[in-house]
Amino acid sequence: MAIQPIRLFGDPVLRATAQPVTTFDKELRNLVGDLTETMLAAPGAGLAAPQLGVSLRVFTYHVDGVTGHLINPDLSLTEEEQEGPEGCLSLPGLRYDTRRAYGVVARGFNMYGDPVTLEGTQLLARCIQHETDHLDGIIFIDRLDREQRKAALKAIREAEWGDGPAPVVKVSPHSTFGAAR
Ligand SMILES: [Zn+2]
Repeated sequence: MAIQPIRLFGDPVLRATAQPVTTFDKELRNLVGDLTETMLAAPGAGLAAPQLGVSLRVFTYHVDGVTGHLINPDLSLTEEEQEGPEGCLSLPGLRYDTRRAYGVVARGFNMYGDPVTLEGTQLLARCIQHETDHLDGIIFIDRLDREQRKAALKAIREAEWGDGPAPVVKVSPHSTFGAAR
């Protein structure tokens, strides 16, 4: 188990729909270990497998001193909502107030394949919704209103880690008139 590099906004793996886990083997337990270590080192309140480049429905959380994981989550949300600051390890340094359900009941499995239910309100509920969104290719800024999302995209472009201009691939010392792009 090891700390892995976290994929940043713009990486296509963050926009893919992750696949359900069907095999609860040692490889899966290693993935949960890597997610947990990377999340705690960051530090972050949660981390989803696509953020490590693995398109599987797995996430870990660390909220109010409790660390855990959930596989193939299925969420029931309360009608009551909350609004508060939210951030993401794939968008370092950015935080925006984001509307979420106040409470969640999440059904899924642990890494041994046993069915588990994870219930939470406030921060844990926010984390579960944020991480489950990652498994559907949704990033929290997608949940913002139009104006806020525009501001977020601008901040991303200006961020050091943000998408710069596409790198030009040189295949010849002579001009290729764009053919090498
Ligand atoms: Zn995130």
